[in-house]
Amino acid sequence: MATWRCIQGCGACCYLNPSERPDLSDYLTSAQLQEYLKMVGTDGWCIHFDSASRQCRIYEQRPRFCRVEAETFQEMYGIEPSELDEFAIACCVEQIEDVYGDRSLELLRFQKEVSDNAGIRWSRNDN
Ligand code: SF4
Ligand code: SF4
Repeated sequence: MATWRCIQGCGACCYLNPSERPDLSDYLTSAQLQEYLKMVGTDGWCIHFDSASRQCRIYEQRPRFCRVEAETFQEMYGIEPSELDEFAIACCVEQIEDVYGDRSLELLRFQKEVSDNAGIRWSRNDN
């Protein structure tokens, strides 16, 4: 069983362009959606994302919807805590592929991080 982990130097989930996320209103409240839209920069990245360091400038104060936590994911997506790792890993893979590509170093690093000791094989990069 793989355990979700965030990797340093990624930030793919901070690319917030709403046209890439047509279902936002399905899982964000209207107040959260407004907050989200205010964070979108002209280049589609979050205005709080430091592209040089690939880190969040407001990490401790980041919105709830930026946090990978069991309670938040249950509320937003109806995911049971026991399903959190699998769901969060799939979200990261999708986001990293979209932003950096399915053969990117970021994806390889993420897959290695979450699959260490889990015996996972990844179909898209196993060749
Ligand atoms: S996409 Fe996943 S691994 Fe990358 S910064 Fe976001 S949470 Fe971390
Ligand atoms: S607030 Fe921070 S964690 Fe949330 S999208 Fe922006 S840069 Fe990323």
